[in-house]
Amino acid sequence: MTWEAVIGLEVHVQLNTLSKIFSGSDTRFGAAANSQASLIDLGMPGTLPVLNAAAVAAALRFGLGIEAEIPARSVFARKNYFYPDLPKGYQISQMDEPIVGAGYLDIDLPEGSKRIRIVRAHLEEDAGKSLHADIAGMTGIDLNRAGTPLLEIVSAPDMSSAQEAVAYLRAIHALIRYLDISDGNMAEGSMRCDCNVSVRRPGAALGTRCEIKNVNSFRFVEKAIQHEIQRQIELIEDGAQVRQETRLYDAERNETRSMRSKEEANDYRYFPDPDLLPVHISAEMLERERARLPELPQAKKQRFMDHYGLSAYDAAILVGSRELADYFEATVVASEGQAKQSANWIMGELLAALNREDKEISACPLAPQQLGRLIVRIQDGTISGKIGKQLFATLWTTTGADVDSLISSQGLRQENDSSLIVGLIDEVMSAHPEQVAAYRAGKDKLFGFFVGEIMKRSRGKANPATVNAVLKEKLEQR
Ligand code: ADP
Ligand code: MG
Repeated sequence: MTWEAVIGLEVHVQLNTLSKIFSGSDTRFGAAANSQASLIDLGMPGTLPVLNAAAVAAALRFGLGIEAEIPARSVFARKNYFYPDLPKGYQISQMDEPIVGAGYLDIDLPEGSKRIRIVRAHLEEDAGKSLHADIAGMTGIDLNRAGTPLLEIVSAPDMSSAQEAVAYLRAIHALIRYLDISDGNMAEGSMRCDCNVSVRRPGAALGTRCEIKNVNSFRFVEKAIQHEIQRQIELIEDGAQVRQETRLYDAERNETRSMRSKEEANDYRYFPDPDLLPVHISAEMLERERARLPELPQAKKQRFMDHYGLSAYDAAILVGSRELADYFEATVVASEGQAKQSANWIMGELLAALNREDKEISACPLAPQQLGRLIVRIQDGTISGKIGKQLFATLWTTTGADVDSLISSQGLRQENDSSLIVGLIDEVMSAHPEQVAAYRAGKDKLFGFFVGEIMKRSRGKANPATVNAVLKEKLEQR
């Protein structure tokens, strides 16, 4: 009998405001421990939080980006718990009245797109950090991160595989970067993900879920979920039951481990924070943020399909980041409008090269103007496609080189002169009379052998289309 996985994600996104959500402290990553913690972040008695308008604006932009309901009023609440990195003894968060209500995100899957519902998104402050390895036998507390603004985005349990969860996470990542509300850097903790996983028989009611805390890379999200699905299936098939609990993913051993049984909301004794007034969102505030929205990934994808004639698959990859989409459009311009060729070169050669060197598109050594010119030179027959790939590799390692100068200085120009090509073909045919006879006796496969020999003699520069046409004609003459 088959099983069906059910997955819901809670994603914490660190907003890229200059100062914290309730204090004026700096939010830069990597500063010396406790150099960015004010009296408010330390939770000193008598201090009062003041809400950062930039954090509210960022949350509103996110809400608009997922077409969410945005309530006119939202409320901050205290979530009470005891932990060394939480000096106040409570975290300021939102409970019953979040800033962003229900919305959705469309994700791209190999089989098409799928709509994932988002239940809510709320603002909260981050806690500090315990540094266990610092001092022998002791634990240090760094409160630089305390009070950093977070947006927690809660999805409905709408995903049914690890791949869908990763696609959703990628869509969130792209969206927050398009909106410029977070750098989305998972390695630095600017985007963290809790994965809720359960399994059930198709059509049955939802099963008991486990929550895997703080998984910090796309790859680990995929592996942690896959592993957890498997664990739950085996448990149930062995006649046991899944216990609702919080688990930890151990990347080194690729397994999840129990951390604690799940606490209930009432364990946190949530109540409205008396130090903060309810937040009222006016129509003007919303309109101001709406006016700042860039073209978003799904709209861009549709435009790439309509305007450039790209497939949904190609368009989805190219809009994966704003920088990649911009790179593509600049290449189209430089290639004099050859959109399909631009897309092919970027998704083939370029992304493969970036991948190999673990580089982002922003660090690409090849400018779109160079790639565009390369495409033009293949199109107008100056160089062959094969030489184009060779030239691409040269451009990759020599920064700022001019495409046309390289073609001349390296003698890469394609041989289009048919009299020269005819000469080469005659040479090859007279050097291999037996193969010619065999071909004429019906051994068609030898055609490739002749082409290879001719290309070799031309050092790869003979125009392949001319070679094919003339060779065929000559071989068929008797
Ligand atoms: P809690 O209040 O315990 O945090 P929520 O209802 O807020 O629970 O859900 C938290 C997350 O868990 C959401 O992303 C939701 O989609 C997901 N979730 C809820 N029930 C299940 C389930 N049975 N299986 C998988 N995920 C679930
Ligand atoms: Mg929750």
